[in-house]
Amino acid sequence: MTEVGTLLVVVGGGLSALVSVQLMIAFANSWAKVRADAEHKNLSLRLLRNKMEAMKVLHKEYEQSKRYSWTGYRKFRVDVKKELSDVTSCYFRPHDGKKLPPFKPGQFLTFQFKLPDEDKPLIRCYSLSDKPNDEYYRISVKKILPPRDKPELPSGKSSTYINEVLKSDEIIDVKIASGNFYLETREHSPIVLIGGGIGVTPVYSMLRTLAAEDSEREVWFFYGLRNKTEQLYSEELKEIARTHPNMHICLCYSNPEPDDKEGEDYQYAERVSVDLFKRVLHVNNYVFYICGPPPMMNSLVSDLEAWDVPSEHVRFEAFGPASVKKTRAKKKDDAASQESFAVKFSRSGKECQWTGEEDSILELATANDIGLAMSCGIGNCGTCMVALKKGTVDYPAKPGFDFDAGTCLPCIARPTGPVEIDG
Ligand SMILES: Cc1cc2nc3c(=O)[nH]c(=O)nc-3n(C[C@H](O)[C@H](O)[C@H](O)COP(=O)(O)OP(=O)(O)OC[C@H]3O[C@@H](n4cnc5c(N)ncnc54)[C@H](O)[C@@H]3O)c2cc1C
Repeated sequence: MTEVGTLLVVVGGGLSALVSVQLMIAFANSWAKVRADAEHKNLSLRLLRNKMEAMKVLHKEYEQSKRYSWTGYRKFRVDVKKELSDVTSCYFRPHDGKKLPPFKPGQFLTFQFKLPDEDKPLIRCYSLSDKPNDEYYRISVKKILPPRDKPELPSGKSSTYINEVLKSDEIIDVKIASGNFYLETREHSPIVLIGGGIGVTPVYSMLRTLAAEDSEREVWFFYGLRNKTEQLYSEELKEIARTHPNMHICLCYSNPEPDDKEGEDYQYAERVSVDLFKRVLHVNNYVFYICGPPPMMNSLVSDLEAWDVPSEHVRFEAFGPASVKKTRAKKKDDAASQESFAVKFSRSGKECQWTGEEDSILELATANDIGLAMSCGIGNCGTCMVALKKGTVDYPAKPGFDFDAGTCLPCIARPTGPVEIDG
């Protein structure tokens, strides 16, 4: 072959190699593009499917709420289960045999108990302590003893009745679930659930619900109690910890017994505190849900504030009149309202001065030794309803109880000027 011929063969070979490489690159590029497009389409489809699933769930919940909801009181058959010597769980199934509307974990039920020796029915609120389902509602109730400094007083009426008198198969009147302390399970933010003593019930319902939904959310569950003798839901908690690595169960025993094993029965031999959170969580960007006895709630709420947790990330509920003094809100209020009004309690013949220091007319009455009837302390049950003889009041949030015209709910009412109430 001539030199020119050889050159042509080399150039031709080189060219065809170049073309092949370019073809391969073009093929690889278009293949990568096809794959990327396909992945993108798959992702969009998955997102769409998830959205549709979420909408289906929402729609089902809405339909169930609409179909099975009720107003006023509905009759329920109770099943009683002793949990501890002083705590009883009650399972309520609708007497009409129909299904139940869903509730939001953290909400509570309002009950009307007809006690054997009482003329008037007793109205009390109890948090739902299980996950929502359409068959039963569960509550867990601790018997309340008289205050330590007044042992001569009787123990709590309804909690003693539930723990010692109420039998399975009895029929009880129940209002639909309500309350603003609840968890939106469709959100994804990491959360810290904190329960102290019997205050564990609403936050346990939140944990149970997330576990039942196999949520992948980061959850920390701190349960403060003295030792194992006081612990509720032990087996269920172990199961949740075993099956959900994203749900961290932290049992905090303030006074462990010699038999209680650290690392097995409990994780921390101390009270639940923000110091503990700093050691365990390290960072503060969680949403905190708290329910427990007043001293625990007071210290946690103010220490979380000192740890720079924004107030909208600290949600809490007290089992009674507002027990947490919200310093931030108060400071704001104090600056805004310097006004002072007379509040007259006509039955007790006392007149007190409203300065904005107390959160409600009930708190003002209690601070001045005026006994007003009350139960929930959050404007939901109507036990405190009393005639408003003069003046007007307002409410920090819409009361859950539909009170009569000319009356008010002192447990959350605040006067807007001089008032007289029939208390
Ligand atoms: C939203 C909400 C959710 C709740 N969830 C739960 C829950 O899940 N589990 C739970 O166990 N509780 C819960 N509670 C608390 C519950 O509603 C009751 O307040 C609690 O059971 C006490 O009611 P009682 O009728 O037994 O006590 P009461 O009869 O109201 O007595 C309360 C206290 O007053 C004392 N006392 C009695 N007579 C007098 C007197 N003459 N003078 C002064 N003191 C007296 C009693 O000894 C007792 O210590 C919740 C409360 C609310 C508001």
